[in-house]
Amino acid sequence: MSHIECRDVPGVQLRNQVEAVSNKMSARVLVVDDIPVNVRLLEAKLSAEYYDVITASGGREALEIIESAPPDIVLLDVMMPDMDGFEVCRRIKANPATALLPVIMVTALSEQSDRVTGLEAGADDFLTKPVRDLALFARVRSLLRVKLLLDELRLREETSRQMNILRDVENRDELLHGNRVLFVGEDAMEGDLIASIFDENSHLDVFSETGTAMQHAREQSYDMAFVSLSLSEGDPLRLCSQLRSHVETRYIPILVIVDNSEPKLVSKALELGVNDYIMRPVDFSEARARALTQSSHRRYHEELRGALEKSVDMAFTDGLTGLYNRRFVTRHLAGLSQRPSTEDRNFALIMVDIDHFKSVNDTYGHDVGDQVLKELSARLQEIVRGQDLAARLGGEEFLIVVTNATEDNAQLVAERIREDIAGVPMTATTPSGSLDITVSVGVAMRESASETPDEQLKRADEALYAAKRGGRDCVVIAA
Ligand code: GH3
Ligand code: MG
Ligand code: MG
Repeated sequence: MSHIECRDVPGVQLRNQVEAVSNKMSARVLVVDDIPVNVRLLEAKLSAEYYDVITASGGREALEIIESAPPDIVLLDVMMPDMDGFEVCRRIKANPATALLPVIMVTALSEQSDRVTGLEAGADDFLTKPVRDLALFARVRSLLRVKLLLDELRLREETSRQMNILRDVENRDELLHGNRVLFVGEDAMEGDLIASIFDENSHLDVFSETGTAMQHAREQSYDMAFVSLSLSEGDPLRLCSQLRSHVETRYIPILVIVDNSEPKLVSKALELGVNDYIMRPVDFSEARARALTQSSHRRYHEELRGALEKSVDMAFTDGLTGLYNRRFVTRHLAGLSQRPSTEDRNFALIMVDIDHFKSVNDTYGHDVGDQVLKELSARLQEIVRGQDLAARLGGEEFLIVVTNATEDNAQLVAERIREDIAGVPMTATTPSGSLDITVSVGVAMRESASETPDEQLKRADEALYAAKRGGRDCVVIAA
């Protein structure tokens, strides 16, 4: 299917909805800690950012809440008397109904062993006590973005089934296999350390200059980017913002590496859409955990985009011919007729119907009929290429929308279609290997600014029937 560049088309609207979801950040956060003052502290911080906070004072209570009224994200203390955070996390991740619920472990110490245990339990991220605001909101926001997207996806049963399959087979380590990684920084040791979190089939490109890095990023389709925020050449924040804005690079997860003393720089970077940050000195297991998290997010995003595009395609295209279907055209015309510019609203409708098509089926069978429909569709697509649109309204009836049209050029397109079909026989499995086909064509220009698409369609249909009555294989323009 050819994607047309037009903001009104439903497919694009759906995609925009997805983007909107990722900006909508109000959500239910479950805070779990056995020490009341810790709970209250996090509750206050999160409520101030308009999150809806629910609390639990132990592991079992948390699991009950998750089962009865699932939150969007969980902040989970590790050390709790009744059941420790690792066990709670393991249970959340082991239950298919809650496996995709993001869990942030809140550890008392930045203990390495805690992080490893947390990772193994399936934790999505970590925070160290005392929890700093910047870190808290960065982690919560980044995980929520994914969660809300996943919820959107889950509305579609079929795709959600596919996601669960994906989740089942997913081995977290595998996410760091065979990656192409961009490293922008001046510290070779840091580069080596980042390289070491990926497997030997991965490839790390190192640049110390932002312009060159950007150029490569647009050509190389990297799986992840690490950008040091302290560079002597170029502006690393500008690089991050460019990575986010270019079509080729906008979905690459970006992790910035920053000196401990520069929280302002981090919040700036997060505002620009950077996914996460790592403080210096870079710690191997932390960098690895963060890379894993980003990699699995990216995987879900790709699945989501793919699934959405596919469902959009299925909902709006015709299975036999690949042309847009009636539902799509109806919405498209509604959009066009409400455009602010008069040129856009000035579209012509060309209705095309195959002549005596019933006899093709009757003589050669339905398969030959289908072959004709497919080839004819491909030819229409070829003829209307560009900003115009071809759709199959049903049966052997097609519609071409010519935007920004004068009567002369609409007539020209209509005549070109008729000639093309009548002039060259269709390839078909008939005794001669081909079949002569003709079409009748009705054209309706937009009559006035107040004419609805339905009224215009009706006039195109009347013109088409005038063409049929006039002997077929001809074009009639509606009065
Ligand atoms: P006219 O010139 O007046 O348009 O005659 P016609 O035979 O083309 O029109 P009619 O509406 O009587 O018949 C349309 C036929 O199109 C009937 C149906 O068998 C055939 N048809 C509709 N959809 C399909 C399809 O998906 N595949 C095939 N092979 N045939 C189809
Ligand atoms: Mg017909
Ligand atoms: Mg018909």
